[in-house]
Amino acid sequence: MKSRILTLESEMEDIIRKCKYCSLAMTNTDGKPYVIHMNFGYRDGVVYLHSAPEGLKIDILRQNPDVCIAFSADHLLRWQNIDVACSYSMKYRSVLIYGQAEFIEDFKQKEEALNVIMGQYTDEDYHYSEPAIRNVCVFKVKATKTDGRVYGY
Ligand SMILES: Cc1cc2nc3c(=O)[nH]c(=O)nc-3n(C[C@H](O)[C@H](O)[C@H](O)COP(=O)(O)OP(=O)(O)OC[C@H]3O[C@@H](n4cnc5c(N)ncnc54)[C@H](O)[C@@H]3O)c2cc1C
Repeated sequence: MKSRILTLESEMEDIIRKCKYCSLAMTNTDGKPYVIHMNFGYRDGVVYLHSAPEGLKIDILRQNPDVCIAFSADHLLRWQNIDVACSYSMKYRSVLIYGQAEFIEDFKQKEEALNVIMGQYTDEDYHYSEPAIRNVCVFKVKATKTDGRVYGY
């Protein structure tokens, strides 16, 4: 079975909405790949992420903000013959977003971004204490390119 390329933005957004986490790929300062899983929020073509203010990913992103973010949903293992390894495959829906990480420093914008992240997981709106906002690092990635692919559906 061939994979199908997605062109509809709404289909790609549906996939992103189903995801509980994303995988953020970066290029380390030595040119080597670095990928970590992160919780996220998504609104209008922008992915919002939050983190402790220190750590390897922050060091990398401050030097090279280019990222690719992977999302996938609806994973389903299937097979044509249970005894034949080559007949196994996994159905999936998947999206890749390319862009640049941009750090958000403004208090209000940080609060809004955190609520976009919370919105991926709950239906509540939250308020945050000043230290909570000050001590968290928030960044966003505006999609410059979005690719979607479906296999098996
Ligand atoms: C489902 C899920 C959701 C997550 N959501 C978030 C989130 O929203 N925000 C967030 O900041 N973090 C999140 N994490 C943790 C994240 O994946 C990183 O582990 C964490 O952010 C630390 O990254 P860092 O680059 O600052 O690593 P550092 O603490 O600086 O450590 C760097 C070193 O630790 C190793 N390392 C880092 N992370 C991992 C890991 N997860 N597994 C194995 N080795 C590792 C690296 O290879 C490197 O050697 C999540 C993890 C999972 C699995």
